Amino acid sequence: MKEIILVKNGELVLKGLNRNSFEDVLIKNMKRHLADLGTFKFTKSQSTIMVEPDDEDVDLDDVVDALKKVFGIAALSRAAVCEKDMADIIKTTKEYLEDELLTAKTFKVEAKRSDKKFPYKSPEICRELGGEILKAFNHLKVDVHNPEITVTVEIRDKYAFVRGNNIKGAGGMPTGTSGRAAVLISGGIDSPVAAYMMAKRGIELISVHFASPPYTSELAEMKVMDLLKKVAAYSGTITTFVVPFTEIQEAIRDYCPEDYFTLVMRRIMMKMSQKIAESQNCQALITGESVGQVASQTIFALGCTDCATTMPVFRPCIGMDKDEIISISRKIDTFETSIQPYEDCCTVFTPKHPKTRPTVEDVIAAENKIENLDEMIERSLKDVKRVFIK
Ligand code: ATP
Ligand code: MG
Repeated sequence: MKEIILVKNGELVLKGLNRNSFEDVLIKNMKRHLADLGTFKFTKSQSTIMVEPDDEDVDLDDVVDALKKVFGIAALSRAAVCEKDMADIIKTTKEYLEDELLTAKTFKVEAKRSDKKFPYKSPEICRELGGEILKAFNHLKVDVHNPEITVTVEIRDKYAFVRGNNIKGAGGMPTGTSGRAAVLISGGIDSPVAAYMMAKRGIELISVHFASPPYTSELAEMKVMDLLKKVAAYSGTITTFVVPFTEIQEAIRDYCPEDYFTLVMRRIMMKMSQKIAESQNCQALITGESVGQVASQTIFALGCTDCATTMPVFRPCIGMDKDEIISISRKIDTFETSIQPYEDCCTVFTPKHPKTRPTVEDVIAAENKIENLDEMIERSLKDVKRVFIK
């Protein structure tokens, strides 16, 4: 029996004239996610994209798993292809959905008839097929409101498709349809989640990581790369910039009042990230900050960090509790990596009593105590290491 995958795109439907180009990006992204599994034919039709393997031996379970990570897909399903003939539709349904129909207690049939020449109207298809299903699986009952399985028949141009329940897709918008942004990535729990959330809205990611060897280790950097790989499984390639930060951090330690260490550091991170982001045609920065989580994320501290840049800063975790962030990190499989105990540059030289109500003037005054900061920034940016994460 020939099987294909039907992909329902989500919000794309709302995009009017842009829909076509959004769908093209979605197809390009699907191709990339399926590249290791074989070659496929993609056919657009209404708000559905049909995905057909060129080779019949392709394992469709693997294809479904890969497509579940593609943003812009609201739902997907495997479907059996059959002739546009009621007898074949009935036979195919009974065979193809046998396991599901045997285990379910309730079902309903839905019919979508885009070929209006098909001799049965939608309610007639439902009645006919529903009756045959009840005869063949006599433990089943019809429940039109809350069925365990919905059998859907679609009558299209050339063929009819039969399918069972939909599988939930990754949602969001196709990566690359909402511009580009640079995520400031640490080894923690929050920033990979922030990266995932913005990629889900269609943003293409690059990332910036600040490393302060020997205070931070090679292992800490590898952990960040592992985290980015997990995010890239959804977002596609993430070009990553590893910025040497030791000299600047030591200067902060040597010249700034201790209670401003973290804030000055975060402002410098923002400024340097903006420079990298602009050189890479990004339109925004992304961080994993959440109001009140730590001293450097009070509303006052965030105000001081925010005005270090002129780019928009997206903070998708801003209103989330830690347990909400953790549940997303578990879903995207970054949690176990994030909790590995390696030092981040944020955790070296931490003040004993960080300012929780800083003013912008005082933070800038603290920052201005560093001599030759601009030269240090230039030097560090020249030594940036670029890594392509796939
Ligand atoms: P996370 O779990 O993301 O590390 P956090 O709660 O530990 O967040 P901080 O360490 O204060 O918070 O960092 C706040 C944000 O600053 C992070 O979410 C991240 O976007 C950015 N950041 C922190 N450390 C680094 C780093 N070494 N390189 C790049 N960005 C960083
Ligand atoms: Mg952190």
